[in-house]
Amino acid sequence: MISVETALDIIDTNSTPLTPKILPLTEAQHHVLAEDCISMITMPPFRQSAMDGYALNLNGTDSYTIIAEVKAGDAINPKLQAGEGVRIFTGARVPDTATTVIMQEKTKKSGTTLSIPNDTPVNKNIRPTGEQIKQGDVALSKGTPLNAAAIGFLAGLGITTVKAYPSPKVGIVVTGNELVAPGLPLPDGKIYESNYIQLHAALTTMHISSITKYMVMDDYENTKNILQKGLKENDVLLVSGGISVGDYDFVGRALRDLQTQELFYKVKQKPGKPLFFGKQNTTTVFALPGNPASSLTCFYVHVVPMLQRLMGQQNFGLPRTKKQLTNSYQKRGDRAEFLKAQILEDQVTILDGQSSAMLHTYALANALVYFSATSNGADQNTLVECMLLP
Ligand code: AMP
Ligand code: MG
Repeated sequence: MISVETALDIIDTNSTPLTPKILPLTEAQHHVLAEDCISMITMPPFRQSAMDGYALNLNGTDSYTIIAEVKAGDAINPKLQAGEGVRIFTGARVPDTATTVIMQEKTKKSGTTLSIPNDTPVNKNIRPTGEQIKQGDVALSKGTPLNAAAIGFLAGLGITTVKAYPSPKVGIVVTGNELVAPGLPLPDGKIYESNYIQLHAALTTMHISSITKYMVMDDYENTKNILQKGLKENDVLLVSGGISVGDYDFVGRALRDLQTQELFYKVKQKPGKPLFFGKQNTTTVFALPGNPASSLTCFYVHVVPMLQRLMGQQNFGLPRTKKQLTNSYQKRGDRAEFLKAQILEDQVTILDGQSSAMLHTYALANALVYFSATSNGADQNTLVECMLLP
């Protein structure tokens, strides 16, 4: 059995970004740039007025003759003699011969004569050509996540496509004879299936939308056939349940018989000990324990950093922070623990109901408190490590 830290190292070294794709900018949000994005234009492409007002050729006096008007979008470039100006609006091209723009609030106009204060400075309220970026320069570099502003910035440079890392195709294989779809009657001995929709929700939070569901009975041949199909059809295969040591847990054996490379099986952690990580050609497989809370913790701790790497992201794992513990916790045993907890401002409380079969506590948690394998827990008011849940 390996430690959490070793497991994360193995995941790190065995997860590489997916092959980049050309994506339309309209579909690129949340993706990460796979190459530097070069600007094809200089921005702004011309000297732009930053105000509604007057563009003037200053002559040291306080009186100017307004000879024309330039609106945003106009292509005209009136020639101004010293002492002349044009009416101008925000975003409009400033005439080459104008030496400043004065905001209209500071002026008085009578007919074509404009009065301005004596101390009007040169070169005010003009956005210089190329102030934002020059043609051929890097607009955004490789590794930049495309948030709304990045999308807007690139669109403003006339860019319509980007080379970015795609989101993985994820398959979720749900195992268990006891599982019934929510909405159907619940026969004796059965429970409602909840891991698929839970993992689906967690993937959606990461902006992964290509998700396929596979259902498997606890039967060796069926398990093996469906796993084979899932491995072929996806970049990532998440298997729920059937990976423990019970007589009807067939996932481990089936993966082995399919020649899936085992990178680790079993991690010294609570919950989520029977966790399998492996590879089949270019497909990454995680077999997660079936207990819903274990399954989700394994997802947050181990699957999230793998997915982030595949998608070319630069930050791995859930964000971590230290908070003051309002209660105390005594950890027994030699496994690391992830405990459902509630952060309120600078403090964190470890919640009751940590069973890996129970989700109620998890539903109310906004963090997991982490105790390493060698820790004995923590006293009240001490600082503990917290992972922030999405
Ligand atoms: P397993 O890992 O297959 O031994 O399952 C461990 C526990 O988790 C059992 O109590 C299962 O009934 C439960 N379980 C497994 N899969 C699911 C699922 N998809 N939804 C809800 N509970 C599950
Ligand atoms: Mg099972």
